[in-house]
Amino acid sequence: MTPPPAALLDSAAGTFLAIVVVLFLLFFWIALAFWAYRDARRRSDSVWLAVFALAVNVLPYVGLLLYVVLRPPRTMDEERALLLEEQALTEGPAEVISRPCPTCGREIELDFVICPYCRTQFARRCRACQRWLRLGWRVCPYCAEEVAAPGRGGTGQAASS
Ligand SMILES: [Zn+2]
Ligand SMILES: [Zn+2]
Repeated sequence: MTPPPAALLDSAAGTFLAIVVVLFLLFFWIALAFWAYRDARRRSDSVWLAVFALAVNVLPYVGLLLYVVLRPPRTMDEERALLLEEQALTEGPAEVISRPCPTCGREIELDFVICPYCRTQFARRCRACQRWLRLGWRVCPYCAEEVAAPGRGGTGQAASS
């Protein structure tokens, strides 16, 4: 008794599907082994880790799992970044130089030109070059613009053009 044509077609399709699945698994296996090898190279200079990464993949999929469990936890790049981070930590944070505000006494940074708490001004801008000048200065050291004495209006010497 010959099978009906539909069943024959089904079995052919089934065979084809099985071949595709097997090929896919095979390809995936090789790709994973390749990935493990590359991963090993990133994690260590040791040839043995690379050999190990390839060797465990003789066992499809299970080997990769084994490799992932046993591999060094960090890549060399991560190791390097961690080392730099530790160095930065032991050196301590960049020192913030602060001083108390002469008016309100709160800590403010040394190069602040105005106290953010009480609005006391420690410096003002040069009219000509817009740089910050200390209040006591009579002349702008950057552009030689005459600075008006604070609170007394202009000295009349400012160059006008
Ligand atoms: Zn203040
Ligand atoms: Zn100036």
